[in-house]
Amino acid sequence: MDKNNIIQNVDACIDCKTCMEYCDTFMVSNDVLKSPNGRLKIAEKIFTNKEISEEEIIGLYTCTLCALCDLVCQQNILISEIIHSSKMELVEQNKAPLPIHKKIIKDIMEKDNSVNGNPDERLDWLPEEYRDEEVYENKDSDTLLFLGCMSSFRVKESASAAYKILKECNYDFKIFKSEPCCGEYIYSAGNLDLSKKVFQTNLELFKSNGIKNLIVTCGGCLYAFDKVYPLYLKDYDINVRHIIDIIYELENKKKIDLTPLNKSVTYHDPCRLGRKFKSGPLYTEPRALLRKCGIEVKELAEDHNDCPCCGAGSGIRGVDSSISIKIGKKIFEKTQTKEITSSCPLCIFNFRYVNYKTQSEKEIKYVTDYVLESIKK
Ligand code: SF4
Ligand code: SF4
Repeated sequence: MDKNNIIQNVDACIDCKTCMEYCDTFMVSNDVLKSPNGRLKIAEKIFTNKEISEEEIIGLYTCTLCALCDLVCQQNILISEIIHSSKMELVEQNKAPLPIHKKIIKDIMEKDNSVNGNPDERLDWLPEEYRDEEVYENKDSDTLLFLGCMSSFRVKESASAAYKILKECNYDFKIFKSEPCCGEYIYSAGNLDLSKKVFQTNLELFKSNGIKNLIVTCGGCLYAFDKVYPLYLKDYDINVRHIIDIIYELENKKKIDLTPLNKSVTYHDPCRLGRKFKSGPLYTEPRALLRKCGIEVKELAEDHNDCPCCGAGSGIRGVDSSISIKIGKKIFEKTQTKEITSSCPLCIFNFRYVNYKTQSEKEIKYVTDYVLESIKK
């Protein structure tokens, strides 16, 4: 969206405040600067070259870019896109990102991950029984299982379960010994120039390793590789699929045998698998797979397209983790089950953090944990 378009869109706002009722960062903070409506006003100031305060910059950077407000806006304003464009404009004007983003971006460039993980520990998730036989890049396969920062370092069992299930099915794939960050963090922080460089470098890495297909475990990686890379890279022709989509297909082809676990679990839809894709399969497949594992799938009060963000999107935890905790706690309060699951390791990571901080007694598992458990049985 160009500058004139953004200003026109912001001017179209009729101040009905409908969007505010759906925005969790506003609901838990009660701060207008952290509402969709308030953020549009900040955007207008940025694009008309008015002074903006530190609080207003924080207002923008506490948006999770969940895109829930876009669905309810009475004027069909693409609010989250305008918020993201505003961050990019702020970076152009040298007023952003915030120091915490600069630190994490520095880590990404130096350590190839956004979670300050030790690069030497990147493969700690790799199951012991496969270590001797794994040949990494040297395997002759055009499909890469790309684990991403969260699965590799913070929710390691999501990486090992994905790997084990694919191996169990004799699926043809390889992994990299050393994996780059997809760059979504840099992009959502508004640093477009650097993110474009990262996208280009990653594409060259994939091409030089003969990669035509990516399998990802993370909603952020899926969104980046499938939706964002094609916007900025000519000749981008990588086919990207989420691990749940692959496992669902394998199960339909009877490559895996699932036995019932007999439990009830609440499923949470990650924003970057749901609203960002506006597609049915990423809503239906994880639920269908869980049911095939003998699980009664419970829903949140708002689900599918209306599901709230887990509270961790777009680097908000580094800016104000209290908002992430409050949003996660609200979700916990709406669940009827002890166990909560999701198909994004960032959601899992944040829910576990909320669980710890609020001393809740939830059990938080990535979807593939159930699949693996069901196969083992
Ligand atoms: S994208 Fe989400 S967090 Fe950001 S303003 Fe809209 S509803 Fe609020
Ligand atoms: S719903 Fe749309 S028109 Fe109404 S206040 Fe929010 S941005 Fe403005």
